[in-house]
Amino acid sequence: MKHKRSMKIGVLALQGDFDAHRKRLEELGAEVLLVKKPEQLDLIDGLVIPGGESGTFLKLLGEAGFEKLKEFVRVKPTFGTCAGAILLANEVANPSQAGLGAIDITIRRNAYGRQIDSSIREGQLLLSKLESSPIEMVFIRAPKIERLGPEVEVMATEGSDPVVVRQGHTMAATFHPELSDDTRVHGAFLNMCREWNNRAPNTGRDNNGRH
Ligand code: GLN
Repeated sequence: MKHKRSMKIGVLALQGDFDAHRKRLEELGAEVLLVKKPEQLDLIDGLVIPGGESGTFLKLLGEAGFEKLKEFVRVKPTFGTCAGAILLANEVANPSQAGLGAIDITIRRNAYGRQIDSSIREGQLLLSKLESSPIEMVFIRAPKIERLGPEVEVMATEGSDPVVVRQGHTMAATFHPELSDDTRVHGAFLNMCREWNNRAPNTGRDNNGRH
C-alpha cells in the first residue's frame, strides 16, 4: 500500500524568479526543492519552470540537462510560467527555438512588443464551461499562445487570448501568477499533481497518448 506523504515539488532554480514560486508553493502546503542539478529531478513529484529568459535556460541546461528535463516532463506534472511556458511548447516563434514538446501549442516570444512589454491586466480564470472569475495577471515581456492543439484545455483567458493552458499533466501560463496575491493558479497546479500522483496504476498515459 502506498503510504501518504506530502508532495515534493521542485522549482527549477537556474535563473529567474524561482524564489517567489517557492514561497507560494510552501504557502499552499507543498514541500519545495530548488532544482539546480539534473539528478534532483529524480526526487520530486512535480516541477515548476519559472520565468526568466528561455534562451538562457536552454544554455544553462546544456544538452544533458535538456534531455533529462524532457524525460521528466513526459512523465511527471510540470507547470511553466512565461519563459517556462515557452520551454514546454511544441513550437516556438520569434525566433524559433528548441522546446521540450510537452504541450501542443505554438507560442510567440515577446509578443506584446516593446512599448508595453510589461503590464498588469485583469483576466478570467475559467471555473467551468459557464463560469469564470476575474484574476490579476502580471505580464513581463510575455509570449502569446498562437495555436492550441486539439488536446489542449484553456484554463484562463485575457481578452481573447488563452493565457493558462493544460494538456494532460502539463500546465503553462504566459504571465507570472507568483507575483500576484491570488493563489488559485498554483492551487490548480498542485491539484493536478495530486490527481496525477494518486491515479490508479497502469492508467498513466503521457501527453502523446503513449502508455
Ligand atoms: N521574454 C522572455 C523569453 O522570451 C520571457 C519573459 C519572462 O519569462 N518573463 O524567454
